[in-house]
Amino acid sequence: MSVFSHPEFDNHEQLSFFCDEETGLKAIIAIHNTNRGPALGGCRMWNYASDEEALRDVLRLSKGMTYKSALANLDLGGGKSVIIGDPRKHKSEDLLAAMGRFLERTGNQYIAAEDSGTSVPDLQVMNRFTDNVAGVTERTGIDGLPCNGDPSPATAYGTFIGLKTAVQYKLDRKDLSGLKVAIQGVGNVGYRLAEHLHAAGAELFVTDIHEEQVQRAVTELGATAVSQNEILSLDVDVIAPCALGAVLNDDSIPLIKAKVVAGASNNQLASQRHDLMLRERGILYAPDYVLNAGGIIDVFYERVGHEHTKVRAHVETIADTLTEIFGRADVQDRPTGEIANELAEERFMK
Ligand code: NAD
Repeated sequence: MSVFSHPEFDNHEQLSFFCDEETGLKAIIAIHNTNRGPALGGCRMWNYASDEEALRDVLRLSKGMTYKSALANLDLGGGKSVIIGDPRKHKSEDLLAAMGRFLERTGNQYIAAEDSGTSVPDLQVMNRFTDNVAGVTERTGIDGLPCNGDPSPATAYGTFIGLKTAVQYKLDRKDLSGLKVAIQGVGNVGYRLAEHLHAAGAELFVTDIHEEQVQRAVTELGATAVSQNEILSLDVDVIAPCALGAVLNDDSIPLIKAKVVAGASNNQLASQRHDLMLRERGILYAPDYVLNAGGIIDVFYERVGHEHTKVRAHVETIADTLTEIFGRADVQDRPTGEIANELAEERFMK
């Protein structure tokens, strides 16, 4: 397994491999870049098929966090950690405690947050052994309601702000009343996004692999249920991917009728060239990691002192960043994802 010559290696500052024989913990922590501050990123637990797969994931995801925090104008760098194992079978309090002790050894250069396969209670166990954990404190959430540390409400609000900005830019409309939006995945973020859109008068079309999630949106928000296969090709104004990655690909893009893609899920583009493909089809792609930065903004404020109105105001700056990206993309006739990466690099490279 190569590291320095690995295709996903991007001059990462530090890679640490941990093994705890007693609990079976095998974990990797990757710190991509700390020019703007300590690296913050999720701790993922996943049943990786190989060590190689885990390494690839942690290298790629930690780099993504550097770009996300830089574009969100946070004094944070990018990092990520992965625990190798099935969260349903291999997770135990002892294993999480061992992870907490490992986090303590990174010398405050990496701060872990919740991710796939880990939860707020898991992070609270790690927090007993280290301060290098975020998103674990009960506080007033972005909406003024009590929050247990879950960043989803902030992520959903940021996505809503981003979607509105994209609609205003592309469709020249401020009022979302009657706007047709198709949401793929009405989970933690997608459902809350649907609530914001419903309150703003949008007409919703939703799908999910869990029927009860769909039914909730139909009953509570008057959404129309559609099949998983047709969600991205509906005749709507906006599609909002909020479920999984790589949904913007060679098969889906030619079928998209919407003029705007603005959703929360990570890594929506199957590959970088799909960025250009969307532009060539006249579809405005709001880069996913710009839209879904609300969560990391929320977690950042938890660490520095959390006045929820300040968090909300910071999340709303997603609109300014997006407007800058859309403007540059048009002036230079280049795809928005490429411009977003370039702008992030301007903000984190010395
Ligand atoms: P979630 O698991 O709560 O919701 C995802 C939903 O998508 C679930 O209801 C799931 O059933 C559904 N789904 C899965 N596969 C599907 C498919 N093929 N078609 C339709 N629906 C499908 O997750 P979440 O926290 O809402 O996150 C959604 C996305 O946003 C993820 O990509 C996540 O990485 C990203 N994101 C989330 C946050 C956050 O704060 N939660 C922050 C940044 C990015």
